Amino acid sequence: MALIHNLGFPRIGKQRALKFALEAYWAGTIDQSTLRAKGAEIRKQNWALQAQAGVELLPVGDFAWYDHVLATTVMVGAVPARHHSSDSNPLDTLFRIARGRAPSGCVCAASEMTKWFDTNYHYIVPELSAEQRFSLTDSELFTHVSEAQQLGHTPKPVLIGPVTYLYLAKCADEPFDKLALLPQLLEVYQQILNKLAAQQVQWVQIDEPILALELDDAYRQALKDSFTSLSGHGVKLLLATYFDDVSHHLDDIQDYAIDGVHFDWLASTVDIQALDKAVGNERVLSLGVVDGRNVWRANLSSLHAQLHPIAEQRGEMLWIAPSCSLLHTPVDLEQEQQLDSELKSWLAFATQKCQELQLLRHALHSSDTTAIDRYSAAVKARQSSTRVNNKRVQQSVAALSAQDAQRQSAFSKRAKTQRQALQLPLLPTTTIGSFPQTQAIRQARRDFKNGTLDSQAYHTQMEAEIRYVIEEQQALGLDVLVHGEAERNDMVEYFGELLEGVSFTQFGWVQSYGSRCVKPPIIWGDVARSQPMTVHWSRYAQSLTQKPVKGMLTGPVTILSWSFVRDDLDNPTIAKQIAVALRDEVVDLQNAGIGIIQIDEPAFRERMPLKTSHWQDYLDWATYAFRVAASGAEDKTQIHTHMCYSEFNDIIGAIADMDADVITIETSRSHMELLNAFEHFDYPNEIGPGVYDIHTPNVPDVASIKALIHKAAQKIPVERLWVNPDCGLKTRQWQETRAALYNMVEAAKELRQEL
Ligand code: GLN
Ligand code: ZN
Repeated sequence: MALIHNLGFPRIGKQRALKFALEAYWAGTIDQSTLRAKGAEIRKQNWALQAQAGVELLPVGDFAWYDHVLATTVMVGAVPARHHSSDSNPLDTLFRIARGRAPSGCVCAASEMTKWFDTNYHYIVPELSAEQRFSLTDSELFTHVSEAQQLGHTPKPVLIGPVTYLYLAKCADEPFDKLALLPQLLEVYQQILNKLAAQQVQWVQIDEPILALELDDAYRQALKDSFTSLSGHGVKLLLATYFDDVSHHLDDIQDYAIDGVHFDWLASTVDIQALDKAVGNERVLSLGVVDGRNVWRANLSSLHAQLHPIAEQRGEMLWIAPSCSLLHTPVDLEQEQQLDSELKSWLAFATQKCQELQLLRHALHSSDTTAIDRYSAAVKARQSSTRVNNKRVQQSVAALSAQDAQRQSAFSKRAKTQRQALQLPLLPTTTIGSFPQTQAIRQARRDFKNGTLDSQAYHTQMEAEIRYVIEEQQALGLDVLVHGEAERNDMVEYFGELLEGVSFTQFGWVQSYGSRCVKPPIIWGDVARSQPMTVHWSRYAQSLTQKPVKGMLTGPVTILSWSFVRDDLDNPTIAKQIAVALRDEVVDLQNAGIGIIQIDEPAFRERMPLKTSHWQDYLDWATYAFRVAASGAEDKTQIHTHMCYSEFNDIIGAIADMDADVITIETSRSHMELLNAFEHFDYPNEIGPGVYDIHTPNVPDVASIKALIHKAAQKIPVERLWVNPDCGLKTRQWQETRAALYNMVEAAKELRQEL
């Protein structure tokens, strides 16, 4: 009989308990043992939840205090020298790497953070040097294994595979061949496996998600060598692959010294027989059959029909699981009280996905499909629901032509018109949009949402917040102001709440990075704008100042990428629907006297398909959607866009093609290296490279900001440079924000004299 296992469960807790505990610890209001106790409680709940739902092999090691890649870094002793401290407190060391500081002291630059494959989860990038030495320095994993065992569970520890780990790492100093570090890293992995074997662990899951990519021969060989060296250490090895098809590596996988393989069945382009054959009868075939990255209820009847023969044939050598770790889905649909019952019947969150596996397994075993047929009826009902169709939207998208993706004139002409209209100084200063989200702001939004604050009182308070940030910005001497986004809980959720065809949840949180969680909207039908979404706030902000206030929108690719997206319509069409809605908003903002409009696209790069062969197709539709959204702007209206955490080399052509008048980007952590792509491409439009890192509370000094701008000016003509932080300021406190922006404006002023 098929066995149910899970690749990972959300670590934030049902009600985001981990977030609150972490933030309390960082703020010094709870001590480390209280934090640790909270973590243990969440793990216990998670295992209980999964066990109750019928999961037999429980993931352990999926829990992490901040990020599982960072946990691996600490475990293998790859802590950057600047984050070490004498106080032998591994948890604080971990927080220092992630945040540049920890309660026990030391302020230093945090490590870089970047997106985990094509998801919206961020990991802390390991920094390795050519002389890197690894050693087993952290015992957290083994503690969690004993915890699970003491609770009566059968743990299956999850490790990031050594080759994926090296692949994701960056060279700290000079570039070198990271794979040269593999033999030494493997020694540590062997020690880990030996220790787990001593703890009576039977199965260990080794995640090598890079198998979904197109790999060169060196990495292919490294994977093979790695499994050879990891086998024979007293535990069975389950290779886990996910996020995309791996059939291009099937011949390699066939030769690995492993005891089982997990495939993302939903992404597979080959049939079950091919996977079955590659794995063979002696090894476990694990199929990821329910979507670990989306929220739709699985069609268990259809899965049953597909899996029935292989389940018969393989018996317990077939395992079933979610396609990938459930880290990317919310915890429990049952918490949702405000979704209408029809929509709710279409959905499944992490807990429900485990239950789906149990239902499926029961049907596979008993051949009684009554329960799964009943369960899957809602999936079929959704397929034929009229609610998802909006004729008006479908018609306007069908009518889009090349003309709809054009501004009036080319950039060179627009730039002149805008210079006239805006009268900005050299090196104009601005911010990315949001200002600190204080307790009072969050409280007001919460009270408004649950009805204890009426609409008028809410409006009055939000306007007071806007007035405050406008006054602060004027006092600081910034050139292009923003309204501060106080009314937005999140840049995607905000629009999700206002657009038709999109719903939002009460508790559908997923981890974005560290303690930061987001609540992605659910796009279930055709997307339409029924009323202006941002005009009121922007108009009010502009009425308070002579300086230009930037309107602030979230772009089509980002809304799409950071939402749970319907699986019954192709992404390019959904992106066009959103673009049309945004275009109408651009026109309304412009008519309301807003002269600069930013259309944020921070998700543009991370949404790139994993396989390079799929890139062009994606870039074509993504760029098109952005251009449609921007096309409502007249020449005099300056369109900005913003991207964070991007590697620009691969997409610089597409960025030029997006043709925003100004792009602001993250660059501070990379010391302006990211600008090289723009320099080499001769990128023609204006750029605001981030001059300080907003992800830590550290305040940059004037000299360091000036040094960065100098560096930028060597790459980009200074007339086309803007000065801004590298992302929005919503997670920061006012005190550090004020100090940092003061220094930033000061740096720009001094440079205007000097340059
Ligand atoms: N305008 C948004 C903000 O300032 C942009 C955030 C982002 O890039 N993720 O918060
Ligand atoms: Zn950003």
